[in-house]
Amino acid sequence: MKALVYRRPGKRQVEDQPRPQIASVTDAIVRVTTTTICGTDLHILKGDVPEVTDGRILGHEGVGIIEDLGSAVTTFAKGDKVLISCITACGTCDFCQRGMRSHCRSGGWLLGHTIDGTQAEYVRIPHASTSLYKLPAGVNEEAAVLLSDIFPTGFECGVLNGRVKPGDVVAIVGAGPIGLAALITAQFYSPSRIMMIDRDLNRLDCARRLGATDVFDASRENLVEEIMALTAHEGADVVIEAVGTRATFEMCQALVAPGGTIANVGVHGTPVELKLERLWAHNITMTTGLVDTVTTPLLLKFLASGRLRADALITHRFGLSECVSAYETFSDAIHQRALKVILRNDVSAPA
Ligand code: NAD
Ligand code: ZN
Ligand code: ZN
Repeated sequence: MKALVYRRPGKRQVEDQPRPQIASVTDAIVRVTTTTICGTDLHILKGDVPEVTDGRILGHEGVGIIEDLGSAVTTFAKGDKVLISCITACGTCDFCQRGMRSHCRSGGWLLGHTIDGTQAEYVRIPHASTSLYKLPAGVNEEAAVLLSDIFPTGFECGVLNGRVKPGDVVAIVGAGPIGLAALITAQFYSPSRIMMIDRDLNRLDCARRLGATDVFDASRENLVEEIMALTAHEGADVVIEAVGTRATFEMCQALVAPGGTIANVGVHGTPVELKLERLWAHNITMTTGLVDTVTTPLLLKFLASGRLRADALITHRFGLSECVSAYETFSDAIHQRALKVILRNDVSAPA
């Protein structure tokens, strides 16, 4: 089968690889019909994720059809169309029972990380009963693939950790796919204002179309003062960090209102400065988190009812065999005006 294989930092290519087989009674083999590329895949290619070793098939997002099942998987049947979660979880260990699926004792982020992933014609899914979700009838599968990772991440680590309430002023720093997923799902709670901050003007236009009340070019001088003036010098009740840099984390600390919450979603490669000397007296809550994907069933319900326009983030489509071009487009997002790139399996189903 064809698959996108990581070789070493900067090097990935489409290769012929053996088709995965059932290795445990709790596995499923899924024929991937749609997958996509995540910002994290770009971090892997830079060599920032050393656990990913030579020969690994990348990808942790996907929709596909169940091709084969281990004997212990009783909740799915061959031929079912399923959403693959970016988090593999056994459902029974102590962490899973506390809802911390990302810390599952025999799971967590495995796909395209420590085991072969979804940017391939077929993928092996461990703990299939609790790591796959049946796709509701009529759901657009390109939209659904965005529920593998970015929507649960923006919703859980941004909106839910940030405890967005009706009437809140929300500021989201970073209008990439995750920041935009937070923007869309924050609207479930009717905040009075959602401000988006980025330096990519195309993404800010997109944010405005998707419901941001105010957008700000991050490269503008006096940005913090401008936002403070707009909020009567109080700041934002909820600030969501969706970039992962020292500068953006500092901006979040400057923007948060007394009694507010900073919900950090961005992955930080280097230490950041925590301004506790200011924050303590402002009763600020700060949250961090790796996505647990516990809200996937809820998000699927919104998708099925047409109230979650996940497909609004799709900008490009490629065949799986054009995976390398898709990576080039995605990694030059600012010039290519790229948000999410869809990869369709262009190899026809077996007869
Ligand atoms: P992305 O790189 O597509 O988007 C980041 C955005 O930040 C871009 O639009 C960029 O223009 C903007 N940006 C960069 N510097 C900026 C600055 N100084 N001021 C304002 N904006 C700036 O990434 P994404 O896919 O949207 O992911 C966002 C973050 O979330 C990443 O750090 C990613 O690794 C992280 N992430 C976290 C989890 C989790 O479980 N916590 C899961 C997935 C991804
Ligand atoms: Zn991801
Ligand atoms: Zn578990």
